[in-house]
Amino acid sequence: MKNLKSFSSPELEAFLISLGMKRYRANQVYQWLYQKGAASFDEMTNLSKEERTALNEKVYISSLILIKKQTASDGTEKYLFELEDGNRIESVLIPDEKRLTLCISTQVGCSMGCRFCLTGKGGLKRNLEAHEIVDQALAVKGLLNKRITNIVLMGMGEPLANYDNTIAALKILLDEKALNFSSRKITLSTAGLIPQIDKLGKEGVKVNLAISLNAATDDVRNKIMPINKKYPIKELIACCKRFPLPKRRRITFEYVMLKDINDTKEDAERLCKLLKGVPCKVNLIPFNEYEGCEFKKPDEKSVERFRGILIEHHIMSITRKSKGAEISAACGQLRGSN
Ligand code: SAH
Ligand code: SF4
Repeated sequence: MKNLKSFSSPELEAFLISLGMKRYRANQVYQWLYQKGAASFDEMTNLSKEERTALNEKVYISSLILIKKQTASDGTEKYLFELEDGNRIESVLIPDEKRLTLCISTQVGCSMGCRFCLTGKGGLKRNLEAHEIVDQALAVKGLLNKRITNIVLMGMGEPLANYDNTIAALKILLDEKALNFSSRKITLSTAGLIPQIDKLGKEGVKVNLAISLNAATDDVRNKIMPINKKYPIKELIACCKRFPLPKRRRITFEYVMLKDINDTKEDAERLCKLLKGVPCKVNLIPFNEYEGCEFKKPDEKSVERFRGILIEHHIMSITRKSKGAEISAACGQLRGSN
């Protein structure tokens, strides 16, 4: 049986018409799925009983199974979901003063193999379908009585290595008839897949772009991010420079700080040089340690020294406080197992 959420909006319309339903029903069903989060056809009370039965016989509505929810003392919540095939993924809800940000996954695992990242350690199991990406937002939304204000594609996986499904999911997240997020409130983070970043720039979806840079020289980046051998730093920065940013928007560069690897004064200075002329901001993320990891987090002093140098060079920069570390919900700690 087919999952109704695997249809794009035009496919849904064609399908309903094939069942003898009126065209306008497609809008109603679409809203039930993506605005009201309906889990069954019985809930779709503005359809006739016959229509609901007809749908029920032909298709079903997928949803994620919540296996476990953990809450950290800082308010961060981690959700472990099971997919239809038994694979598991995690989503993280991060509250701060003004925002409630949901961090969602795009793959089961990841094939990029970044040395510091726990998600990368297990390799890639599979891509998520578009509806599995969207379902994370729907599932968490359904459990909350507050509004999710921001979405970041920074959970498990490399979104641009699952390009088509990620774009399809973004379209639903942005669609005013579906989840209706503003494009300014969604951020896609990538390890730096140049052809896909170029492609994204030509796409109708204008979400914020974040690049996991993590080093200022190919020497260091090659060691911690194998993808750099394919797409080296200079080419990546050139790609960022030609990325068509909407007015007043900046690219975010994420920089995981690893003690004695990329946290020196010289590293900061090289980073400033590299980013000269790129409309950007830099998020410094002190490494989140986990069991068996080979890196250390730098002390606060070197993080602040690093940030000071960026600020001196007029590069906007913040240190991202790692939330949810005690429940392994912080950046790079998602594994999707129980
Ligand atoms: N694959 C995409 C999206 C995942 S985002 C990407 O890499 O951009 C995950 C972010 O967490 C990346 O910026 C990555 O550099 C960072 N990260 C990974 N492991 C980390 C760790 N152990 N501590 C801190 N940040 C980490
Ligand atoms: Fe994959 Fe991103 Fe982790 Fe690298 S940092 S292994 S790209 S999830």
